[in-house]
Amino acid sequence: MMSASPFNPALECLECPACGGSTDLSAPRGTCPACARPLIARYDLARVAGAVAREGLGRHGTDLWRYRAVLPFAPDFPAVRLGEGGTPLLPLPRLAREIGVAELWLKEEAGNPTQSFKARGLALAVNGAIAFGKRRIALPSAGNAGSAAAAYAAAAGIACRIAVPEDTPEAFVLEARGLGAEVRLVPGTIADAGRALSEWAPAAEWWNVATFKEPFRLEGKKTLGYEIAEQSAWRPPEVIFYPTGGGTGLVGMWRAFLEMRELGWIEPPLPRLVAVQAAGCAPVVRAFDQGAESAVPWEHAHTVASGLRVPAPFADALILRGIRETAGTAVAVSEEDMVDAMSALAESEGCFACPEGGATLAALRRLRASGEVGPQARVVLFNTGSGLKYLEAWRTALARRRVAAGEEGR
Ligand SMILES: *Cc1c(COP(=O)(O)O)cnc(C)c1O
Repeated sequence: MMSASPFNPALECLECPACGGSTDLSAPRGTCPACARPLIARYDLARVAGAVAREGLGRHGTDLWRYRAVLPFAPDFPAVRLGEGGTPLLPLPRLAREIGVAELWLKEEAGNPTQSFKARGLALAVNGAIAFGKRRIALPSAGNAGSAAAAYAAAAGIACRIAVPEDTPEAFVLEARGLGAEVRLVPGTIADAGRALSEWAPAAEWWNVATFKEPFRLEGKKTLGYEIAEQSAWRPPEVIFYPTGGGTGLVGMWRAFLEMRELGWIEPPLPRLVAVQAAGCAPVVRAFDQGAESAVPWEHAHTVASGLRVPAPFADALILRGIRETAGTAVAVSEEDMVDAMSALAESEGCFACPEGGATLAALRRLRASGEVGPQARVVLFNTGSGLKYLEAWRTALARRRVAAGEEGR
């Protein structure tokens, strides 16, 4: 038995932005005990600022545990690690010239364990499960989250059940099974997978690590904001394009920038956060355009970008607040534009992107053309995972390239 608390002494409580309630860490809690909405970790940032300076982070390694002072675990908590985070922020000079922006950068997340940025969130969620004394985790997934959960569960020696839509690309299913998880294929979308999971892995026995159903995936995604700020010499970019499914990365970066402002590590204004979705599943874009505070579930959701096929994001209200309070916006892109942009990232910058990554470039082109992003802007795009697990999307991309080349030759 561990006698000392596994949690960071600066972690004050988990709070609920929806009802204003807060809860301590004495009992494991995934969502708000009062209203069942997402919980967010709150730290004593004055205490953190007194203990670490941004210049002293280098002592803590190069992966995301470098930001341990603002992560939930105690300094001596033996975290399960696979080398998550610490990914490069790469310049995209050719695309910057072509599109006409002062600076264009790519946060390249494909180098994470299991090849996507889901590793950040699941590393924290699996360690959180262990800190709460849980030995079984479960989640619905569109692909990458399942693979990452399986990897950390394997490394931690705990059980993992994953429900995925039956049309999930086979690479994800093989990978998660290879990593020792039990995987069930369910007809429909991730929402249907979630419903199936509640019977197959009931919450009383299986700790639910679905997006925003526990508080620590958000903490892992928060490190994206810390890395982007540090890699920009603490002068973060003006605009960040984020491919938004469940929204942990967008809300996580927003939290990170607010924390860093309070820590005195960055100056306002905060980067404008742009939520990018697929035209075939754009509940956040629709709600944003209508001025709504929550999103209505999207019917018949379809897109090749499986990470964006989230018809009813549980944290819709938080995502919409994060966009509005950073003066950001929300954009939906067509499948064709997404796949062509994925292909352009590969051809002109050497990044074998996933369709979600392509979506961010397609969205930048749109906002640059409309003038919502000006020529002086410093912009960050995201490639959230490797293109290797999306062979279908790549077949389409190459077929479209051949057709375009043929038309030019005529
Ligand atoms: C999950 C996922 C997303 C969406 O991330 P959220 O934090 O759920 O909004 C984007 N891209 C890829 C590759 C993903 O796996």
